[in-house]
Amino acid sequence: MLAIRQVARAALHLILPPLCSSCQTPVSTPHAFCHTCWGAMQRIDGAVCVQCGIPFPSPVLEGEKCIHCSADEPAYTHVRAAATYDDLSRALVLRLKHADQTDLIPSLGQLMLSCGASLLMQADLLVPVPLHYTRLIRRQFNQSALLARWLAEKTNKAVATQILVRHRATKTQGHKKRTERFKNVRDAFSVHEQAPPLIKNKNILLIDDVMTTGATLHECAKTLLQAGALGVNGLVLARVALAE
Ligand SMILES: [Zn+2]
Ligand SMILES: [Zn+2]
Repeated sequence: MLAIRQVARAALHLILPPLCSSCQTPVSTPHAFCHTCWGAMQRIDGAVCVQCGIPFPSPVLEGEKCIHCSADEPAYTHVRAAATYDDLSRALVLRLKHADQTDLIPSLGQLMLSCGASLLMQADLLVPVPLHYTRLIRRQFNQSALLARWLAEKTNKAVATQILVRHRATKTQGHKKRTERFKNVRDAFSVHEQAPPLIKNKNILLIDDVMTTGATLHECAKTLLQAGALGVNGLVLARVALAE
């Protein structure tokens, strides 16, 4: 069965070559980026804040905390982002969110897998940042849950898409300043009534598509820790490099 599928896939690639996940030019392997897009992508692989993962301008700051994490420590232990949120990653995230282009999941998931290998290894359970149900109904899927499921499958980890609940619809964070963003999501999350035994003493890895100030991840981590989790880390696809 597998052999037939492989032959069928190879034949399909002869007729329809795989396309770059970003610009749609032909590439040699499916779910890959072409050389131009790969080169243009601002992957985060240098010195970052040891806690929130914001890129530092200089490698001498490696192992340090940024001013925000030093002044007001987030509830999560470590967050890592695969790329800077720029025009290229924004276009990919928008396609994923609003156009049901779920075929993007393997290429975006692969970026997160490479960047978050050690966080994934430490995790007992992967938990996507939830959408409020009204937004879920409108969009029909949660892009972070799709990424979390893909990552869980690749790393043989458990994933739980229902244990964290966004019980309050929050206003879009769009143009809000840092303090407003934290206020906007405060107490917006809770855990499902059956969740505590599943998360007790577990290392949880939150999965999300975009991080700006980390207010949402902080709030989710706080909720999970209050419900008995041992520790909470986060892995996101893209993050804003300079949060206000
Ligand atoms: Zn491309
Ligand atoms: Zn930081």
